[in-house]
Amino acid sequence: MKGPESRARMWRGAIQQVLISEAELHRRIQVLGQAITTDYQGKDLIFVAVIRGALMFSADLARAVDLPLRLDCIALSSYGDRHVSSGHIRIYKDLSENIAGKHVLIIEDIVDTGLTLQYLWSHLMSRHPANLNVCALLDKRARRQVMLPIKYTGFDVPDAFVVGYGLDYQQRYRNLPFIGILRPEVFGQEGRYG
Ligand code: IMP
Repeated sequence: MKGPESRARMWRGAIQQVLISEAELHRRIQVLGQAITTDYQGKDLIFVAVIRGALMFSADLARAVDLPLRLDCIALSSYGDRHVSSGHIRIYKDLSENIAGKHVLIIEDIVDTGLTLQYLWSHLMSRHPANLNVCALLDKRARRQVMLPIKYTGFDVPDAFVVGYGLDYQQRYRNLPFIGILRPEVFGQEGRYG
């Protein structure tokens, strides 16, 4: 079996810097899971995982919560295959559960401009949940255009394009076990990020 450092070295052609290691992700997710367990005691909790980006995060976070929560997902897209937010959001797959009267926690991979979250927030509010909150693994505050309350945040990240642990660039790198900054060369002919 390869260790975390050797795995990180295998990705060095694409990754400029490992920002958050596998171990750091694991530790922080346990802390978030404990906080959610305490805050939602006795409540009918539904996780709404925003896929595909929050796939890994929601799976690990759900297992760090000691409550009989429900797990639903919604598939949104704002970036298509590009890496700059367009603000045009589409729903590919809507919820399967009825969230009326339920305690809903949105599980996001990253909040960047906040446009996706703003859209999702009003979409879910129109279904009358008892309460709606957000848990985002990453917060890229420097680029925020819309302010919405984020109840639980994993890590603040700088204004750089990050991949791994569910986050992609052109649908690749989601399977990296850590969060890393993509090398600018990987953006290729498209020019710089942002
Ligand atoms: P926002 O609407 O600008 O807040 O963007 C939110 C979505 O854009 C996230 O759910 C991600 O799917 C994607 N995104 C934003 N920043 C990054 C990044 O650095 N790497 C990969 N995806 C990103």
